[in-house]
Amino acid sequence: MLMKGKKGVILGVANDKSIAYGIAKACAAQGAKIAFTYLNDSLKKRVEPIAAEFGSEALVYPCDVSNPQEIKDLRIALEKDLGEIDFIVHSIAFAPKEGLSGRFHNITKEAFDIAMDISVFSLIEVTKELKPLLSNNSSILTLTYYGGAKYIPNYNLMGVAKAALEMTTKYLAEDLGKDGIRVNAISAGPIRTLAAAGIGDFRFMLKWNEAHSPLKKNVSIDEVGNSGMYLLSDLSSAVTGEIHYVDSGFNIMGMPAVEFEEGGKPRIAWNGTDK
Ligand code: NAP
Repeated sequence: MLMKGKKGVILGVANDKSIAYGIAKACAAQGAKIAFTYLNDSLKKRVEPIAAEFGSEALVYPCDVSNPQEIKDLRIALEKDLGEIDFIVHSIAFAPKEGLSGRFHNITKEAFDIAMDISVFSLIEVTKELKPLLSNNSSILTLTYYGGAKYIPNYNLMGVAKAALEMTTKYLAEDLGKDGIRVNAISAGPIRTLAAAGIGDFRFMLKWNEAHSPLKKNVSIDEVGNSGMYLLSDLSSAVTGEIHYVDSGFNIMGMPAVEFEEGGKPRIAWNGTDK
């Protein structure tokens, strides 16, 4: 039991398709005690049964990260119910729809500010608020995507937010290392979730990733969950500030692999024509 005796909080479970659900499942299977948060009252009903699945029915709290008071209230509740904690999972992102398709230069300041606040600053604010509860052997994990490192069609505003999130991970890692707190990010390959549904041509991204990654498959929330559990456990005790790709190796590719037909005509695995 790699997480036996460890307690933590997971922000960002929307349903059993969420990446955060995959991480919760892997951590619970290894003995972790997990608190969950939900965005608002109408979403509470979706999170409560999931918490119950992991024996955490008494550990479900509201937390809209755009409201600083709710993050403060979360700290008070966690302190009362769990005391010291050993891990935080930040699996939250949001950008207004207008920022996830169309011409990039048309993004508004309002959309930009919302995306940066919810998808990036929230990691800093949650860390700052919950730091007094973190043990001196603890681990924080956030979720990013390759669109924060390279151009990905339609990822637009979220790409800029993920780039900022990845650097935030590194600066936090340096800052908190002296307190025995590690901070890492998983860059997951595309997965069909509620958040992904907002990204234009997402089906195309899935097919492209599958066809052009070394492992020739898309990733599952269980696979991301297992890697997340590793980064939250003592197995990764010397790992911090990492952007760890869990994407079937897609990020290493500089060019799609080419097969040659008889006669020397090149053929790539999938050229996207049956979109
Ligand atoms: P998801 O199931 O929709 O999870 C996103 C979560 O963010 C939801 O629980 C959502 O709550 C929450 N959220 C949004 N605004 C919030 C706010 N103001 N306060 C608190 N919570 C808020 O989708 P997911 O794909 O698992 O996303 C989790 C993370 O993985 C995100 O950072 C995403 O960018 C990242 N990621 C996803 C993929 C992918 O292809 N799916 C790939 C790489 C990285 P509600 O649903 O209740 O609104």
